[in-house]
Amino acid sequence: MNPWINADVLEVKRWTNNLFSLILNASIAPFYAGQYTKLSLYDTNTLNKNKIQRAYSYVSAPSDKKIEIYIVRIINGKLSNLLYNLQNGDTVFIKEKSFGFFIIDEIPDCETLWMFATGTAIGPYCSILKEGKNLNRFKNIVLIHAVRYQNELTYLPLMKELDKKYHGKLKIQTVISREKNKYSLTGRIPYLLKSKILETHIGLSINSKTSHVMLCGNPLMVKDTCCFLIENRNMQKHLRRKQGNITMENYW
Ligand code: NAP
Repeated sequence: MNPWINADVLEVKRWTNNLFSLILNASIAPFYAGQYTKLSLYDTNTLNKNKIQRAYSYVSAPSDKKIEIYIVRIINGKLSNLLYNLQNGDTVFIKEKSFGFFIIDEIPDCETLWMFATGTAIGPYCSILKEGKNLNRFKNIVLIHAVRYQNELTYLPLMKELDKKYHGKLKIQTVISREKNKYSLTGRIPYLLKSKILETHIGLSINSKTSHVMLCGNPLMVKDTCCFLIENRNMQKHLRRKQGNITMENYW
């Protein structure tokens, strides 16, 4: 049993015309950082008012009092447009129990943990790093956030706070594909790996002996990066029955 329960909308933070975060209050069951939930609303455009539901990851840590979810508004998307237009005091349905295995307890020990995200898929890493549990076993953690434009680096202030909290263990790199910025690398993740620009910039290498790679977001980024690491860095997908070095979560 995993019922829908009510979540009160405390705030809608509209970062851009397409990116927003919902701040919610709901009596959900305890979850693991990196997991996702489902949100649902009635489709007001249909006569029989069907419920529309979609999966979304938490940005908030399990120990946070408020739930935070980071969402991209999809052109002609049914639910994301309804969610974007929610007001404080509205109600949305949320699943009581959370889903997924993109959690730190599933990652084997290694020297350097690489966390790659595109777009709103920065959420699970924010949750994991805010919670901070079971991370002592990694010497380095590298967080890479790739977006189209600079103003989509919504959680950069939080990432900078986390940077301070981890006292040098955490390295943060932003990547922007459609404009230039002196603090970010330019291009897409697979190109930055093939060219070795990313690793040279960070000063660490990705290899099957010392590294584990988490990939989250755009399914094509996840696929292309995974293929590159398998073909060029002798890495394997990590499975519960067979240890590897790549853990993935597609966002759609
Ligand atoms: P995005 O299009 O995935 O862009 C984020 C970053 O990923 C950009 O830097 C982009 O580079 C890069 N990227 C795109 N394809 C790539 C590939 N094959 N390999 C490596 N990097 C790649 O994400 P977004 O801007 O956050 O989201 C916009 C769109 O994503 C939405 O409008 C929707 O179509 C889709 N989306 C759908 C869902 C869903 O259906 N639930 C959820 C989230 C997002 P470029 O600038 O070069 O493209």
